[in-house]
Amino acid sequence: MHNSYVGRFAPSPTGPLHFGSLVCALASYLDAKKNHGEWLIRIEDVDGTRCKPLYTETIISCLSSYGMESDRPIIVQSQQTKVYQHYLEQLKEAGYVFPCNCTRQTLQAASNQHIGPCSSTTNTPHSWRLQSQEVSFHYNDKIQGPLNFHINSQSNCPVLKRKDHFFSYQLAVVVDDHLQGITHIIRGSDLLETTDTQLFLYQRLNWTPPSIGHIPLLLDPRKQKISKQNHAQALPEGDLYTLNAALSYLCIPPSHCDTIKDTIKHAILHWQPAHLRFKSALQIKSEHAHLADQDQ
Ligand SMILES: [Zn+2]
Repeated sequence: MHNSYVGRFAPSPTGPLHFGSLVCALASYLDAKKNHGEWLIRIEDVDGTRCKPLYTETIISCLSSYGMESDRPIIVQSQQTKVYQHYLEQLKEAGYVFPCNCTRQTLQAASNQHIGPCSSTTNTPHSWRLQSQEVSFHYNDKIQGPLNFHINSQSNCPVLKRKDHFFSYQLAVVVDDHLQGITHIIRGSDLLETTDTQLFLYQRLNWTPPSIGHIPLLLDPRKQKISKQNHAQALPEGDLYTLNAALSYLCIPPSHCDTIKDTIKHAILHWQPAHLRFKSALQIKSEHAHLADQDQ
């Protein structure tokens, strides 16, 4: 029996959590708990060149300090490579992927077309790419509203397995979400651009995609995404002020509770994802300028 709501938060251990990731974690957690669902943590360390195991513990401990614990054992993607290989083989058999040894330069010169040596050999180091096809998707984003995506045969064919043998985020995330029975995803709108490829992969694997909602991006006063790349400050553990700031960004009314636990309870009660639809990035910038100012 599948649970009717299984949500997840899937951080990459490329650094400690920051304010932007706390907001995303809380959004997925509140949505799951408001719907009496399960909420899972999954560690997305599929990119072995950027992820560091030491951050995995830091991230899990930090989430726990804000009252968020995984309802099932935590899956670590780097231990799942056999599973990803299995589904890559399935896609190979169906003829949906092709080996590619193009470089960025040869692709650019050929307007993204995979010609010449690209598909002629699998003996040299090569990646595996998903073959593009003319296809449209319409889906109702839980927060952004109805969205349309169109992939055409000229679209860039996404890499599913890299030349250095690491699997791509795109394949790993779709396989894990499906195998874990994830029914609802709430994540940052920076991942909107990955949605069309993921929906296409669901179709290729004959799986039903989960419901997806993208929360508006948190920007700093320089209008940059608050991210590790932009040197966002590491989160303090279990800090009520920080939690309240994150919840206010998520349109949760002030609670005046004096513990993390009670504040989270209050937030679950007041979580309304539709309220986020109208929240523009600009509003967010002015509301939380004081927080971002603390970054360096
Ligand atoms: Zn190629």
